[in-house]
Amino acid sequence: KPEFAFIGRSNVGKSSLINMLCNHKGLAKTSATPGKTLLINHFIINNEWYLVDLPGYGYAKRSKTVQDKLDKMIRSYILQREQLCNVFVLIDIRHEQQKIDREFVDWLGASGIPFSIVFTKADKLGPVKAKGNVKQWMDALLDTWETLPPYFITSSEKKTGKDEVLNYIDEILKEIKG
Ligand code: GDP
Repeated sequence: KPEFAFIGRSNVGKSSLINMLCNHKGLAKTSATPGKTLLINHFIINNEWYLVDLPGYGYAKRSKTVQDKLDKMIRSYILQREQLCNVFVLIDIRHEQQKIDREFVDWLGASGIPFSIVFTKADKLGPVKAKGNVKQWMDALLDTWETLPPYFITSSEKKTGKDEVLNYIDEILKEIKG
């Protein structure tokens, strides 16, 4: 079955987003302790596609050895998985572009992996500031890339952006079915 993967730095709001998308409170464990997911978790949705919860990258408090192993696992999953339709890269809307996020996005682009950006925690900023940050983030990609990936602005707190992400997944599923 088709797979859609979600990844981001620890504490970016990945578990909250996954739970919002699935209408579920305890599917992916949210916690105030970052860096908990060490495994690749698959959740079957509507008996139609897999939501794949990837471990966070670049978590400073993990030992370098552990993080290197995780990074290898993540990258080999992404490169080898034929069923993988899209990688959603989560970015905290409050922060300016971090090197580690940018490197990961550049790696996806260079590897020809379809991906899109999900800005999280939009409720933490006013709409003007949020839009400004998104524009900055996306514009910075134009240094390297000619075309920009699709992006979504979400808040798991306010339950916004959910339909946009789910509709995007639906469109891809429809395309596959032909
Ligand atoms: P993960 O480590 O990426 O899975 O992040 P979590 O989903 O566990 O969230 C990390 C922290 O951010 C928790 O304290 C969440 O309550 C908080 N959080 C996550 N999403 C949102 C959001 O959309 N808005 C706000 N205000 N807080 C959020």
